[in-house]
Amino acid sequence: MTARKPINVRRPEVMAQVRDKVQQYQSALVDSIRANGDVMSLPALEVHLAAAFGFCDGVKRAIEIAYATCQMFAGKRIWLIGEIIHNPAVNADLDGMGLRHLPWDFNAPVYETLNEEDVVIMPAFGVSVSMRKVLDSKGVQLVDSTCGNVIRVWQKVRNYAKMGITSVIHGKAKHEESQATASHSRGEDGKGHFIVIFNEADAQVLCDYILGRGERDAFMSHFAGCYSAGFNPDVHLAEMGMANQTTMLKSETAHIQSMLRAAVTERDGDDSRFHAFDTICGATQDRQNALFELLEKPLDAMFIIGGYNSSNTTHLAHIAARKLPTFFVKEADCLMNLSTIRSYDLKQKTEVTLPLPSEAADLSRPWRIGVTAGASCPANVIEQVIRRLAELRGCPVA
Ligand code: SF4
Repeated sequence: MTARKPINVRRPEVMAQVRDKVQQYQSALVDSIRANGDVMSLPALEVHLAAAFGFCDGVKRAIEIAYATCQMFAGKRIWLIGEIIHNPAVNADLDGMGLRHLPWDFNAPVYETLNEEDVVIMPAFGVSVSMRKVLDSKGVQLVDSTCGNVIRVWQKVRNYAKMGITSVIHGKAKHEESQATASHSRGEDGKGHFIVIFNEADAQVLCDYILGRGERDAFMSHFAGCYSAGFNPDVHLAEMGMANQTTMLKSETAHIQSMLRAAVTERDGDDSRFHAFDTICGATQDRQNALFELLEKPLDAMFIIGGYNSSNTTHLAHIAARKLPTFFVKEADCLMNLSTIRSYDLKQKTEVTLPLPSEAADLSRPWRIGVTAGASCPANVIEQVIRRLAELRGCPVA
């Protein structure tokens, strides 16, 4: 089967037909709060929005592409690999349009059924090199919604591979984007190497090994599933280049970079065999910086809105939780009443039921809350959460 080039579906005539569907994710209320200096004051509730939150350009584009594909290829089988983005509300809308899902495991039997009549959308975080080869071999019509920021990371790691440099990827080894980046770090000839590290504890294990303080079997077992086939730490840590999953916590990435640079300098006498590019995307950085600014205000609590499997949203929740009672909710229904809320617990990695702080029940003064949302959270969901909070405080938004 001949591979077909991805098709551009964001054509003016197609976009004109899906405009209403895409606009459903906007919010007049959120726009009006923005226009009012990011603050909404009600008798019993004061809402402070972060200066940057919600949909990034990459997510907006991916959603437009998904709707445009449905419009352009109506009547065909249209598949999404995994989820277009990590947001349950958006994904449910798209499912309602009859989109089918392909699993990330391209050995799954459903891949055998694909043929040139099928249309397959690649998500914003991209697909691995192997997945792309499988899709090409089926002759399906591809539609590519991979974000340009992700493609830039792939270019970095492919360059590392060309120069014989091992990629150290700061990310979640099981996240689709990190897996795609790891596959690109093998380079054109497939001989490049990578190791994925998740946090500073992983970075410390790596630094110890670089400095000859680690034991090989323990190292390999610590990073099982996180390195390339044939990876040999005694050979492949000689020269390293760092890259990130685009949605990681900037401060943690910066610290990991300095840890690794210091280890290589101590080993070699200089850092010429350590390379680093900050590949955290601008949208992720903006949302993290805006949250740090928001947390300087005198607030009673923070609400972080977004999908629980969204990496950038989870990092926002981590940042806020260090400073304030924080509730990580995916939708307005999580706010059950003034004393009970369903919130994602970052340690238990599951939704739990929490009481709201006692000030939430005190209606004698406005409850001051901060609100932000991940890059995959639509403004209409943010509006619904704000409206629900106002309703619970007895001062519904008109
Ligand atoms: S969060 Fe960044 S990398 Fe991800 S889709 Fe948005 S702009 Fe692209």
